[in-house]
Amino acid sequence: MARILLLGGTAEARELEAKLAEMPEHEVIVSLAGRTQAARSQSSINPTCVTRHVGGFGGVEGLRHFLAQEGVDVILDATHPFANRISWNVVDANEELALPLLRIERSAWQQQAGDNWLHSPDLPHAVDALTSGKRYLLAVGRQEAHQFSRRDDCWFLSRSIEALPIEYQIPNGKQILYQPDGDLETERDLLARYSLDGVVCKNSGGESGYAKLLAARDLGLIVHIIERPNSPDQTSVDNIDTALLWLSRQSIDKTA
Ligand code: NAP
Repeated sequence: MARILLLGGTAEARELEAKLAEMPEHEVIVSLAGRTQAARSQSSINPTCVTRHVGGFGGVEGLRHFLAQEGVDVILDATHPFANRISWNVVDANEELALPLLRIERSAWQQQAGDNWLHSPDLPHAVDALTSGKRYLLAVGRQEAHQFSRRDDCWFLSRSIEALPIEYQIPNGKQILYQPDGDLETERDLLARYSLDGVVCKNSGGESGYAKLLAARDLGLIVHIIERPNSPDQTSVDNIDTALLWLSRQSIDKTA
């Protein structure tokens, strides 16, 4: 039996958790940072073989301690492409233990014909790159949206799954709540209804978030796209099936 630490917070992690919950040969600890109410209140899919750890580990040292204390055999890092610190932490924490570690990271979106993308290497550069007087759909997540407050020469329709804390709200704009569902029509309507000139987003990849980029292309709007941070050099796959195949091979290696 393998004891797996699954670092989550993404749709892929939830999908992986559901698959692993049907495999009684594994014991799984799903770990969530606990940033959202949903993450804090969600219960395990199958409490017999899947338990939850909610909240940080206390940096590299804390994570190293957790791996040893919990007797973890395998680590699956299915955190978001922009959740970079935890991915570096897990590599550092695992340096001596050398447990099998797999990164599951969805592919980045690629610019297509008809797209009008302006690439920014990081969020502060995207803040600087905006055009004065323009109106933007801001879809960068609730933790970082407030960094756009300093662009009081622009207007923002700030969109996130959960509300921004009061101190993080952007004065020059409006906030709406939204669970991405990948519907192109909805995105086109939204961009048109608020007379938006462009979209600001991270290159998160994935299907549900792509509709806003398709809508921007259809309407000829600019997309300020924030590129992914540098990630550690490690074994990586971009889908759940390949991750499960990799995992089955680790089990074979363990019992060989
Ligand atoms: P981060 O910058 O990489 O991590 C900051 C700290 O949060 C880590 O050092 C760790 O605390 C804790 N942490 C992060 N992910 C964790 C996990 N899965 N389990 C336990 N602790 C975790 O991460 P972030 O950008 O704040 O994202 C937090 C979570 O939200 C991630 O799990 C990610 O998958 C999800 N998420 C992030 C984004 C995004 O755009 N960043 C978007 C969607 C979902 P300690 O140092 O105390 O261990």
